Amino acid sequence: MDFSFSEEEEQFRQEVRLWLKREIPARWFELDPGMWEETEESWAISREFQRKLGQKGWLAPAYPKEYGGLELSHTKRLILAEELAYNRAPVSVEVEITVNWVAPTIMLFGTEKQKKDYITRVARGEIIFCLGYSEPDAGSDLAALQTRAVEVGDEYVINGQKIWCSYGHLADYCWLAARTDPDAPKHKGISMFIVDMKTPGITIRPLINILNHHSFNEVFFDDVRIPKENLVGQKNNGWYQLVIALDFERSSIGVAARQQRIIEELVQYAKETKRNGEPISNDPLVRNELAGIAVENEVLRMMCYRIAWMYSKNLHPSYESSMTMVFASEVTRRLANVGMRILGHYGQLDRDSKWAPLQGRIMRMYLSSLSIGVGGGSNEIQRNIIAMRGLGLPRG
Ligand SMILES: Cc1cc2nc3c(=O)[nH]c(=O)nc-3n(C[C@H](O)[C@H](O)[C@H](O)COP(=O)(O)OP(=O)(O)OC[C@H]3O[C@@H](n4cnc5c(N)ncnc54)[C@H](O)[C@@H]3O)c2cc1C
Repeated sequence: MDFSFSEEEEQFRQEVRLWLKREIPARWFELDPGMWEETEESWAISREFQRKLGQKGWLAPAYPKEYGGLELSHTKRLILAEELAYNRAPVSVEVEITVNWVAPTIMLFGTEKQKKDYITRVARGEIIFCLGYSEPDAGSDLAALQTRAVEVGDEYVINGQKIWCSYGHLADYCWLAARTDPDAPKHKGISMFIVDMKTPGITIRPLINILNHHSFNEVFFDDVRIPKENLVGQKNNGWYQLVIALDFERSSIGVAARQQRIIEELVQYAKETKRNGEPISNDPLVRNELAGIAVENEVLRMMCYRIAWMYSKNLHPSYESSMTMVFASEVTRRLANVGMRILGHYGQLDRDSKWAPLQGRIMRMYLSSLSIGVGGGSNEIQRNIIAMRGLGLPRG
C-alpha cells in the first residue's frame, strides 16, 4: 500500500503553504482563537479570509465547476484541509458546517435552482449556514424532534425551538429539520428546509460555552413563514437527508494535521524546558507520553486518508465516518491530557499571562475537547452506529 503523494500533489501542497503564509493576516495569530473561541474581531478576519479562499477556488475545491468549485481531486482537497488546519488558517467549524456538510447534501437532494442559489455562494465564501437539528428533548434521539412546519398556501409556517445551534447568531441561513407529518412514525414525518435567519419570528438567545465564549444559541421559531420552495428534497423524507448530512459531519479530514502541529509544539517545549536542571525531554515519562500520542495521531491520519479515498471513489463514508469521529475525539482528549501533564501547573495559565506556555493553547484545548465526542452525535451513539452499520449487529 502506497500512501505517498504524487510530485504534482506535493507541489500543490507547497503552493498552498506559500499562499497561506502570504494571506493569513498577522493579527489573526496575535488573537489566536481556537475552536469555539470566536470574537467579533476574529470572526471578521475569518469571514474576509474565507471570501479570499473562495475567490481562489480553494474553499470548496472539489465542487463541480458549475457550482463554483474547481473539480480538484479529493486528494488535493485533503491536502488543502491539512494545510489549513496545520497552519491554523482562519477557517473553523462554520466552514465545515457550510461547505462540507450542508452544501454537499443540497447538492444531492436540492433542486437546480437551490444549487445555483446557495452552493455557488457557499463556494465563494459569501454565506454561512447553521444547523437546526437538536431540541431540548431531542438530542441523541434526534428523530423525536417536535419543531413543526405546516404548509399554508405558498408557504411553510414554522413553530418550535432548537438548541445548541452553533453560530446561529452569525449565520445567514439555517439548515433546519422540522416535523411535517405529526401522525407518521417519527422517522417518516420529518422534512429539511433552508431558512433565512433574518426571517421575522426568529429569536436567538446566546448560550455561553465552557471557554466563556458565545458560540451556541437557542433559536425560537414563532410563526416563521418561509417560501415553499425552501423545502429541500422530498417532503417527509428528510430523515434520510439528515442522516447523509450527519455522515458528512462525522468525516472530518483535517483533524490529524491540526493535532500534529500541537504535538510538534509539545516536543519543542519538552526540549527547551528544564526541570531540576535537565530538559524534560530526557524524562522517560514525558518521552513515553509524546511517543504514544504521536502513534495515535498517525493512526488517525490514516483514518482521515481512508475517508478522503472513499470520496475519491464516489463511495459514501457511513460507519467509517463514525469510526473516525470516535477515534478523533478520543485522541484529541488524550492529546489535551498529555499536554496538560507535560506543562504541569503552568498549563492552567491563559494567554494573558506571560508565563502561559504555548499561549495557553493546551488549556483551552483541554476545555474545548470535552465537547468533542458530543457534537454531531455522542460517542455512545457513534458506537451504536458502528455496531449496527459496520458490524451488522442488531439494533440495541
Ligand atoms: C460542540 C457542540 C456543537 C453542537 N452544535 C450543534 C448545532 O450546531 N446544531 C444542533 O442542532 N446541535 C448541536 N449540538 C448538539 C449535539 O448534537 C447534541 O448535544 C448531541 O446530539 C447529544 O444530545 P443531547 O445533548 O441532547 O444529549 P442526550 O441525548 O440527552 O444524551 C445524554 C447522554 O446519554 C447518552 N445516550 C443517549 N442515548 C443513548 C443511547 N441510545 N445509547 C447510549 N447512550 C445514550 C449520550 O451519549 C450522552 O452521554 C452541538 C453539541 C456540541 C457539544
